[in-house]
Amino acid sequence: IKTIGVLTSGGDAPGMNAAIRAVVRKSLANGLKVKGIKKGYMGLLNEEIEDMDRRSVSDIIQRGGTILGTARCMEFTTPEGQAKGAEICRKHGIDGIVVIGGDGSYRGAQKLSQQGINTVGIPGTIDLDISCTDYTIGFDTAINTAMSAIDKIRDTSSSHERVSVVEVMGRHAGYIALWCSIANGADDILLPEKYDYNEQRIIDNIIDNRKKGKTHHIIVNAEGIGHSTSMARRIEAATGLETRATILGYMQRGGSPTCKDRVYASMMGCYAADILAAGKTNRVVGYRNGQFVDYDIDEALAMKKNINEYMYEIARIL
Ligand code: ADP
Repeated sequence: IKTIGVLTSGGDAPGMNAAIRAVVRKSLANGLKVKGIKKGYMGLLNEEIEDMDRRSVSDIIQRGGTILGTARCMEFTTPEGQAKGAEICRKHGIDGIVVIGGDGSYRGAQKLSQQGINTVGIPGTIDLDISCTDYTIGFDTAINTAMSAIDKIRDTSSSHERVSVVEVMGRHAGYIALWCSIANGADDILLPEKYDYNEQRIIDNIIDNRKKGKTHHIIVNAEGIGHSTSMARRIEAATGLETRATILGYMQRGGSPTCKDRVYASMMGCYAADILAAGKTNRVVGYRNGQFVDYDIDEALAMKKNINEYMYEIARIL
């Protein structure tokens, strides 16, 4: 391997820049050339490729988003698109690629690897929904952002004796909701993995808490359950208590990465650069039981991940 490319794909996440920086600098230290590919697989197919040196990644570790940009690309899901992508890599002398993204992006990397381009994936998503790893880049920043926002909502909710429905991100995975409900002391929690949604139970819980003298009630709702606004309207009608919905939305995806996201992204970026330099392909980096590890992409994509039952129980009890 002489030249590697790096791209970010799928949804962006704070810490991706730290990962790009690590991939670039560690690969240069390993004696390789590095090229940055803009806007994920779309940029690859459009040949938006440029040389990167140490300075290309200066002053980015503290920045949210991704300096390379990211995109979703339908063309790359076709065999023709994948063959074209591999051809473009060869044209630019790229014999290995680090893909920073989620499961969908790994599928793209898997296809490139089948086309003879060495690939390594790095888990980048705020949702924590990648089965082969206990940690994904951006999750820590996202939960801290959401936690601070919910703290603020709690203050005003308490002053006005309101009920608040706060919707956090996570279309298929409730990890952000689960962590925030513990961190923010939510009274109710709704997760896509635990679809036992019973509005009457929530209403009874609110009325019960109010009788006990509680001045506010916070319901953390995951995006995958959704309908927060109509839920708030129904709760208000049933309880007679002022109820407001707040959808935190994209603010959770941005912002300066936390120390943990910067450090783990740096470690994973270097790990990916090293295994690519060692000639490995079709791999994905993960963090398991306190260690950085790598798995075959096929194996990683076949793994399953479930919400920690004990954590869920704790969220409900506390
Ligand atoms: P994430 O990586 O965050 O899961 P997506 O699922 O949107 O995000 O995937 C990002 C991109 O990866 C897609 O736009 C597409 O270009 C590529 N991709 C997704 N699935 C496949 C697939 N089965 N084969 C090839 N490329 C894929």
